[in-house]
Amino acid sequence: MSEFYISAIPTAVHWQPTSAAAEAAEVYVRRIFPDPDGTMQEVKVEFHDRIAVIHPGENLERITCPRCRGDISLDWFDALVTLAEGEFDNLDGTMPCCGTVLPLDTLDYDWPCGYARFEIGIRDACRPEYEFTEAELAELGNILGHPVRQILAHF
Ligand SMILES: [Zn+2]
Repeated sequence: MSEFYISAIPTAVHWQPTSAAAEAAEVYVRRIFPDPDGTMQEVKVEFHDRIAVIHPGENLERITCPRCRGDISLDWFDALVTLAEGEFDNLDGTMPCCGTVLPLDTLDYDWPCGYARFEIGIRDACRPEYEFTEAELAELGNILGHPVRQILAHF
């Protein structure tokens, strides 16, 4: 069965909120993403010790090198992520297209792929307005203390 995830992550790779801010953010997310009978969706707050890949799953269709504009194969990327078990201390990688060493978070991902040490994820959100709106992302950023963006994943 398909699963859909909406993840809000800080726009800075290393940034983490305080635990109090994370709790307040979870309360806010549960309020704007209601789950009437409490069984349809899952809201998860995660702190990662290392930098975690917030992968868009099947939504990832294309990766482009920002240096040479070459296509980077999804197989190359997924092998790299698998080898790292989804977590990194250092995002630098040698690009298969042109040999340039670039941080992985600077590649062009379609759909977006994120890197973060904190995330709030919603699995199989119930509400019909599926994504966070811009206003909700701004409010969530205010609560956490740092701007956030969203990654939409389908597995
Ligand atoms: Zn390249």
